[in-house]
Amino acid sequence: MAGSVAIVGAGPGDPELITLKALRRIEEADVILYDRLVNEQLLGYAKPAARLIYCGKSPGHHSIPQERTQQLLVQYALEGHKVVRLKGGDPYVFGRGAEEALAVAEAGIPYEVIPGITSAVGAAASVGIPLTHRGVAASFAIVTGSRCHDHEQPVRWDQLARNVDTIVVYMGVSQLGHIREQLLLHGKDAKTPVALVENGTTSRERTITGTLDHIDKLAAAMKITNPALIIIGEVVKVRERLLSLQHTLNAQII
Ligand code: SAH
Repeated sequence: MAGSVAIVGAGPGDPELITLKALRRIEEADVILYDRLVNEQLLGYAKPAARLIYCGKSPGHHSIPQERTQQLLVQYALEGHKVVRLKGGDPYVFGRGAEEALAVAEAGIPYEVIPGITSAVGAAASVGIPLTHRGVAASFAIVTGSRCHDHEQPVRWDQLARNVDTIVVYMGVSQLGHIREQLLLHGKDAKTPVALVENGTTSRERTITGTLDHIDKLAAAMKITNPALIIIGEVVKVRERLLSLQHTLNAQII
């Protein structure tokens, strides 16, 4: 009997932020190929006999090349297994999920894609930053920092600086200096608030806030490392307001 592939979003880090549908696929799977950013607690829901294969890539180190991951998805499904490809956040947001869907579809294997909460949405909510806010931000864009020096597919910092209210950068911490420079060059105010969120939604979550003109120095001083997101825009100030109200509330309770 032919198997199938489910390309599944595991959510941003907190294991409880996975969808019911995704959890069900994990419980039913014969084989699970999972990434580095997937919370390993979720693998505890797999059948004891399920085969768990780590395909994680840490920056600069590819443990299983992408092509090999795709071959494995096809191979296990052709052997008749229910295969889950478990990816951090949402599989179609900087996750190469569609490359895998194409490979599986080309092999004639039935597949489905189950969305997950992407880290920008999860982390922003977790640290009290609304990506849009009436009167403050009517648009947001998510961007990768990893293509800063990609001339074939450049990130349009000029357009982003001028036309988008909130910018969220994935994979951007090591490029923070370049990002700051580009946004300032294209007219973004030097005092635009910026937040960096490391390990968003997890017990190791860390947030720092500053302004665009010095955020790279602050990130270096605070040793912010991956996985982390950069959130740029006036909405970051809403967090400060929420935090100060929280303090007032706590003071009243005491
Ligand atoms: N498909 C994923 C993104 C994969 S790219 C998603 O939808 O979220 C990997 C990048 O995502 C990391 O370099 C980091 O910028 C971001 N990221 C993923 N999980 C994160 C988390 N818990 N906190 C902060 N950033 C995260």
